[in-house]
Amino acid sequence: MKQISLLGATGSIGTQTLEVIRQHPEHFELVAMSVGKNIDLALKQILEFKPSLVSVQSKFDLDKMKDLVPVQTKLVWGEEGLIEVATSAKATIVVNAVLGSVGLAPTLAAIKERKTIAIANKETLVTAGHIITEYAKKYEVQLLPVDSEHSAIFQALNGEDINDVEKLILTASGGSFRDLKRSELTEVTVDQALNHPNWSMGAKITIDSATMMNKGLEVIEAHWLFDISYEKIEVVLHKESIIHSMVEYIDGSVLAQLGTPDMKVPIQYALTYPNRIKNKGNDRLKLWEIGKLHFSQLDFERYRCVELAYEAGRIGGTLPTVLNAANEIAVAYFLEKRLSFLGIETMIEKALEKHNVISRPSLEEIIATDLETRTLMHSLIK
Ligand code: NDP
Ligand code: MG
Repeated sequence: MKQISLLGATGSIGTQTLEVIRQHPEHFELVAMSVGKNIDLALKQILEFKPSLVSVQSKFDLDKMKDLVPVQTKLVWGEEGLIEVATSAKATIVVNAVLGSVGLAPTLAAIKERKTIAIANKETLVTAGHIITEYAKKYEVQLLPVDSEHSAIFQALNGEDINDVEKLILTASGGSFRDLKRSELTEVTVDQALNHPNWSMGAKITIDSATMMNKGLEVIEAHWLFDISYEKIEVVLHKESIIHSMVEYIDGSVLAQLGTPDMKVPIQYALTYPNRIKNKGNDRLKLWEIGKLHFSQLDFERYRCVELAYEAGRIGGTLPTVLNAANEIAVAYFLEKRLSFLGIETMIEKALEKHNVISRPSLEEIIATDLETRTLMHSLIK
């Protein structure tokens, strides 16, 4: 039996994590969870899973919920609440499925308490990868990937020596606009961008997939999770999202992990690692029904955000923090229809250009850079 603390229970990954827990009550128990603003859904989840600790984003929502939750459920709020959930004494594993760099402080707090971390929240790794991996080493904590590409690589690496790896090959579906030329991107709308061909995900990551910043963030995520240089990380377009990623070894062998596009598979693997249990609700892969798988090389001019991410990753220091914060703000403006689709990358590029990089930044410097970038982006876009 594993005791789970779930950050971001009301989100796309959060609700799918609860589905995995629901399917395996003999293996998993939800002991603590956090939500943002969706308290209607949170109340349903609390009544079903009866966690003993729940954090909400605002004090206002906490007051609204007080009389509606079972007496044994303690309610907390804000960043402190998130940290309390991440460090809950009852939990052995923390699933971090919040959105954005708000996940950083709770992740570090959970590591200090020696919780195993199942990490979906890639923004946290992008913004402060060197600090998280340093903490994980120091406290001997395992970071288990939830992102499908990284779960695929993790599985294909199982037991092998990282020095025997020639390269990691991340697959990319290409997102909502993969069939459009760059010149056709000027007029695209939010609704079109939110219509991902293969995956149903939260709004922010769906836009990140359309700009392909998602793949850029994943390159940086892979760099930190697998301690491998950027030269050894490659991206290949694969529109079916059946091969979730690959590892090429120095002897020429390539190991891939395949499956239907279903996040519950990597979520469950992170929860059961190093074991596997029967997946009861999954559409099995029928390659004969799919027939063909397609692959093509990534064009960095078409997908400028991937190039920006490689550059930020290679230069390092505070630059990935800027990349991530600028992207979070630009995507929020795009979703509010206050910035065009191509404006996202233009604004991120401006923020990167204006930044004076601090190498090997401390946690305080990262937090300050994150804030400064957000402020800069608001003024640039307005
Ligand atoms: P969603 O937007 O669907 O969910 C985000 C969750 O975080 C919600 O529970 C939300 O609460 C909560 N949240 C958001 N902002 C705050 C905040 N400031 N304080 C506290 N809680 C907050 O996102 P996804 O589930 O799509 O993505 C979550 C993470 O997983 C991201 O980092 C994403 O990149 C990564 N990921 C997602 C995949 C997917 O298939 N969705 C695949 C691979 C990675 P509420 O809704 O209650 O406001
Ligand atoms: Mg992914």
